[in-house]
Amino acid sequence: MDGICGHSRDEFLEMARRFHGYPAPGLIVGGFMVDLALGALPKGILFDAIAESTACLPDAIQMLTPCTAGNGWLKVVDVGRFAICLYDKHGGEGVRVFVEPSRLEPWPEMRAWLLKLKTKSEQDERTLVDQIFDAGSRPYGVQRVRLPEAFRKKRSKGPIALCPSCKEPYPQLAGAACKACQGESPYD
Ligand SMILES: [Zn+2]
Repeated sequence: MDGICGHSRDEFLEMARRFHGYPAPGLIVGGFMVDLALGALPKGILFDAIAESTACLPDAIQMLTPCTAGNGWLKVVDVGRFAICLYDKHGGEGVRVFVEPSRLEPWPEMRAWLLKLKTKSEQDERTLVDQIFDAGSRPYGVQRVRLPEAFRKKRSKGPIALCPSCKEPYPQLAGAACKACQGESPYD
């Protein structure tokens, strides 16, 4: 096992601590997934990324590739599967990496964690992390996919208006007031 995207186990765990706060098992799994996807993608292309879960995977992608939520090259499409996809920005051909439950038998702690068969207190974190590293890229499937142009197109936010209620700029497409003033504000 050559580590994750050229980083040794210790290096990766340190990067994870800095970026994510702690080396979450999901981030390590995500690291192996990104490593696999990068290896299966043609060299030298510009790619975008999809995370199919909000948990950990977006950070694995942001830590190991130039794709971030802020630059728009990473999209979180929360269908709840622990899977990622990297795809050619222009042609839309991509590689999707996902968990193959049938391949998890040799790593029971990892299997129990991924399938939520144990409570957090029953879990042995040290064994779990060891098993994720030991498994390397083996528990994951790689699938060729294509992203339709409609998905890849940059959608314009359209013109900006000033909200009559909060007076802040917002995309006019939202309606007569900004979405926050229409009741979607997270604040009291
Ligand atoms: Zn407003």
